Amino acid sequence: MDDCVFCKIASGKIPAKKVYEDGLLVAFHDILPKAPVHVLVVPKIHITSANELHNLDDSLASHILKLLPKLAEMLEVSDSGYRVVVNCGENGGQSVDHLHFHLLGGRAMMWPPG
Ligand code: AMP
Ligand code: ZN
Repeated sequence: MDDCVFCKIASGKIPAKKVYEDGLLVAFHDILPKAPVHVLVVPKIHITSANELHNLDDSLASHILKLLPKLAEMLEVSDSGYRVVVNCGENGGQSVDHLHFHLLGGRAMMWPPG
């Protein structure tokens, strides 16, 4: 999508502090981090939100889920713990309409979330 910021990051049109990339996804530091560790995992294909997860290949969904703990290890939050968040739609607090997984760590998280 031409006007999608995460599509632009995925295609390299705008820069990001990438921590991991392969042919299917990219992971990069959030520009406004909400925790000492705040990375976004973004599939390269444009999928609008979690409501559209049925359009994600099973292999890509599995790839993302299995990558998250590897990234946590790389970012040194495996032992202390972390949170994976997918905001969906207005009430979910989604601000970028391209599916993404937040990986947050480096501090204790509140529960329930605000
Ligand atoms: P959400 O509110 O769940 O849609 O999350 C979108 C996230 O993308 C927010 O935490 C933003 O800070 C982050 N974000 C927006 N633009 C950029 C960008 N250019 N580079 C990195 N992170 C971004
Ligand atoms: Zn997009």
